[in-house]
Amino acid sequence: MSLPTADSTLGSVGLPPPVIEVDGIHRTYGEGETAVHALRGVSFTVDVGDYVAIRGASGSGKSTLMNILGCLDAPTSGRYVLEGHDVSRLDDGQQAILRNRRIGFVFQSFNLLRRTSALANVELPMVYARIPRKDRHRRALAALELVGLSDRTHHLPNELSGGQQQRVAVARALVTSPSLVLADEPTGNLDSMSTEEVLVALDHLNVVGRTIVVITHEDQVVAHTKRTIELLDGMIVSDRRTVAVGDRPPRWRADS
Ligand code: ADP
Ligand code: MG
Repeated sequence: MSLPTADSTLGSVGLPPPVIEVDGIHRTYGEGETAVHALRGVSFTVDVGDYVAIRGASGSGKSTLMNILGCLDAPTSGRYVLEGHDVSRLDDGQQAILRNRRIGFVFQSFNLLRRTSALANVELPMVYARIPRKDRHRRALAALELVGLSDRTHHLPNELSGGQQQRVAVARALVTSPSLVLADEPTGNLDSMSTEEVLVALDHLNVVGRTIVVITHEDQVVAHTKRTIELLDGMIVSDRRTVAVGDRPPRWRADS
């Protein structure tokens, strides 16, 4: 079903800015003869509600790009605008605020606290964001429900499967209501069944309006997204859209 999205009915006046605007980004490590040109002129835009896979072989620049998109690293040249904020014009403190408020991260290695329940792991970013305790609890439960883990809230990470642990990490990434969820090889450590569980959780996030960028080299991941950007040697070699930004992700369209 392909209805006009809320965005397209607003007209140009009320249109929100793209979540990501990347313009001519270069990232060079080191100098002189030993310099590594990890990104060589990368430009693209990601609109609100998109679900994008960034794919490329090892060494193609994916993590370098992810670090820049996550305001964890600065480009050598070029411009990165996150939700209308020109990141290079912000100081470190402002970048940290932007990162904490607007971006949810999911890493390959889950990065959960070991001795802490699923619920407490999901509450943690809200502690940093100074969200009141009673709201933290309610929101963490809602996030765990969204990833299908309502019945595992008091389990420790080592009492959960890999796929369940990564779904806790997805819940943690979404609980602060970020504008952008960035995932770097989120299924890299998982078998294909657990991979599917995690991807279904990301699909849910996208259905409720989150913008997702997932870095991967797996076809199984790409099949869930709406658009694939292919990196080769630090450059974009293709940018293919399979589903319109405002539509539901592929798996959800099949049964609609
Ligand atoms: P990918 O995530 O696609 O495997 P990376 O972004 O990690 O690619 O790396 C792109 C290129 O930049 C590679 O040639 C890599 O060796 C190099 N590189 C990455 N990080 C650094 C660094 N901190 N210092 C020097 N070279 C780096
Ligand atoms: Mg990498």
